[in-house]
Amino acid sequence: MTTAADPRYAGALRLDGKRALITGAGKGIGADIARAFASAGADLVLSGRDEGELGRAAAALHDEFGVDVHSAAVDLARADGPDTLAGMAADALGGLDILVNNAGVSYPESVVDTTAEAFDATIAVNLRAPALLAARVGAQMVAQGTGGAIVTVASAAALAPLPDHYAYCASKAGLVMATKVLARELGPHGIRANSVCPTVVLTEMGQRVWGEEAKAAPMIARIPLGRFAVPHEVSDAVVWLCSDAASMINGADIAVDGGYTMG
Ligand code: NAP
Repeated sequence: MTTAADPRYAGALRLDGKRALITGAGKGIGADIARAFASAGADLVLSGRDEGELGRAAAALHDEFGVDVHSAAVDLARADGPDTLAGMAADALGGLDILVNNAGVSYPESVVDTTAEAFDATIAVNLRAPALLAARVGAQMVAQGTGGAIVTVASAAALAPLPDHYAYCASKAGLVMATKVLARELGPHGIRANSVCPTVVLTEMGQRVWGEEAKAAPMIARIPLGRFAVPHEVSDAVVWLCSDAASMINGADIAVDGGYTMG
């Protein structure tokens, strides 16, 4: 029996000196991921659309944790958004070691009411933008030659169909597979790509879709742990996946869902 602490675990989840871009970082799950990364020692670029909100978040994290924090307001619904953001983030931090693709939208609609406009709006932000951003940042990481980690926040909606979430489920399922292609193609460069699939988290988005008791109760009843997730439970998985403690994890999809999608 050993009594001394195993030195492998001292600081295994630290991200000191790592340069990370986090999308959707001004609120909700992304804001919690940003806080977790700052507390783990990473330098950050926070992205979203609201310049003021991002600036305040960046200043607060710098004051609390002393890390370097920048903000980059870019609309990822635009086709050129990912290129613009990848360039801004690399310029701000002098390169990137980590990308957290977290920004997303949810516009609940049933199959029979779906329009091309609504479908495209979801796919643009939830699938095209993170896929292209990972491709651009991945190319930068390959050129740097120092490896890297890419984590994509998909959703349990990628793994189990949800009524009234036609484009959303399709976008998130696409992301899980796109992440595996990244893992296959960028792995030989020491770049790991993984995704997480959370169940409902009562952020602004979660509250809008699942906030009513009549909607929440049947969903909670399908989750073996009997509750929705809280933001730090997603952040913990993302920090771990980006840390050296997950150095052999590549192409994995981690369900953060209390057992909801295990089958
Ligand atoms: P949220 O509170 O609504 O935050 C969404 C974030 O995405 C915001 O920071 C928002 O930026 C950003 N965003 C949206 N559209 C954008 C655009 N066109 N360009 C740039 N940024 C944009 O949502 P959340 O619940 O934290 O969700 C975060 C991620 O987790 C999403 O990918 C979501 O699909 C996923 N997820 C959420 C849940 C849940 O129940 N909440 C469950 C599973 C997965 P602005 O500040 O500019 O609006």
